[in-house]
Amino acid sequence: MNKNKEILIIGAGPSGLSLAIFLNELGYNPRVIDKKEKISAYSKALGVNPRTLELLESSGITSKFLDNGYKMHAINIWKGDKHIIKNDFRKVNHKYPFMLIQPQKDSEEILLEEALKRNINVEYNTEFKSIKKDNNQHSAIINSNSTEYEIAYDYLIGADGGQSNVRKLSGVRYDGLRYDEEWELYDVEIDMDIDGNEGHVRFFPEGSVLMIRLYDNVWRVAGRMNSILNYMPKNSKIGNILWESKFRIHHKIAQKLTWDNIGIIGDAAHLHSPVGARGMNLGIEDAYVLSELIHNNRFKEFDAVRRPYIEKTVSGINSLTMVLAGDNQRSRLLRKNIQVLKIVAPFVMPKAKKFVLGIN
Ligand SMILES: Cc1cc2nc3c(=O)[nH]c(=O)nc-3n(C[C@H](O)[C@H](O)[C@H](O)COP(=O)(O)OP(=O)(O)OC[C@H]3O[C@@H](n4cnc5c(N)ncnc54)[C@H](O)[C@@H]3O)c2cc1C
Repeated sequence: MNKNKEILIIGAGPSGLSLAIFLNELGYNPRVIDKKEKISAYSKALGVNPRTLELLESSGITSKFLDNGYKMHAINIWKGDKHIIKNDFRKVNHKYPFMLIQPQKDSEEILLEEALKRNINVEYNTEFKSIKKDNNQHSAIINSNSTEYEIAYDYLIGADGGQSNVRKLSGVRYDGLRYDEEWELYDVEIDMDIDGNEGHVRFFPEGSVLMIRLYDNVWRVAGRMNSILNYMPKNSKIGNILWESKFRIHHKIAQKLTWDNIGIIGDAAHLHSPVGARGMNLGIEDAYVLSELIHNNRFKEFDAVRRPYIEKTVSGINSLTMVLAGDNQRSRLLRKNIQVLKIVAPFVMPKAKKFVLGIN
């Protein structure tokens, strides 16, 4: 085993921390830097899919995730207050036939704890500033405690999120779409009569609302409509709002995923809507694939190996997003007649389920 490859990972989000752990499993000891002070208290991702649970199993993380989160067994489709259909995850042929729900903050804390246990150096308050190129090798200029210095590594991996400087400073284009409409997001206490161990999508002609329980009576509610809290099930009692945010959706894939000795993974490499709960999961899959390729001296093949799956996934998410939130006549008509799902369910539901669970 070649344990001598020196690897710098820029970004200690879920993609960067997973990469560090996958590499460590293969005998490497990468260094991870992050400009933030600590893990953010606010969680974007909630859904950890079966594919991720499978990949993280051998490192011992899956059992910690399972002890911490809860198993969401199904997604229900509603037309307003009328229940249309349940897509039951228990019917998939997989060891983990559910979506594990746990806030991203918890996922990151568990990954960080495991990385530190393995003596992986995770340095916060340490910012990647720029790249210096010497022939086809790049070194990184970083800033730690107000001191700037240059460091050379065999591989520099940008896991530095959607605004990735590793990607931008290398002049790598980030092609795709940006939607102008804002989405609303709330983490809010709601008492209501719908099953809290299952997810719910409530369709209205003007859009839809996604509802997933976080813990106790706290729900994540998101959708591209104004004042989505006005679209809650009847007789709901809305309590405290713990977090509210607005966000815009991008569907983008970087023009290349590796060049010279640099690679990018996670949101740095692809961005899409949260519909389908794939972003963090896709980043963790990237990390797994890249670690194997680095180990097998096939680093430069990462783009060729990974791009077809990323393209297929981003395109699938785009289609799902259009059904849920598209503003064109076709999307409105589909939402207005969402009961037709009952007729096409035997064909559509198994495919949709596998897609959302990341086992397509
Ligand atoms: C509302 C919402 C809900 C979502 N729900 C889900 C879900 O249920 N399931 C799912 O799989 N995904 C979901 N996602 C997507 C998911 O949150 C992201 O895909 C995921 O956070 C990407 O992880 P990452 O590690 O690639 O990037 P990030 O989480 O963005 O981490 C990047 C890290 O890099 C650091 N960094 C940036 N620049 C520098 C620099 N110059 N120097 C050093 N460090 C730097 C940052 O501080 C950060 O810690 C959701 C997203 C949103 C917006």
